[in-house]
Amino acid sequence: MLIRLTCKEAHKIVSEGLDRDLGTFERTRLRLHLSVCDACTNFNGQMQTIRQAMQKMKFQDPFSPEP
Ligand SMILES: [Zn+2]
Repeated sequence: MLIRLTCKEAHKIVSEGLDRDLGTFERTRLRLHLSVCDACTNFNGQMQTIRQAMQKMKFQDPFSPEP
C-alpha cells in the first residue's frame, strides 16, 4: 500500500477533514506528507484556522438576543 501522498491527495484529505473525522491511517499519511511538504503544511494550517472559526460559529446561537 502506498504511504506517500501527492500534494493533490494531501489537499483532498485536509479538505475532507473539515467535514468529517479522518481515520488513523489517513491522519498518519497526511502527517507524513506534512513533515516533508511546506506548501501543504501552510494549507493545512489555513484549513485548521477556518475549521476552528466554523466550530466557534456553530456554538453561537444566532437567534439568542444580544446581552
Ligand atoms: Zn504537499
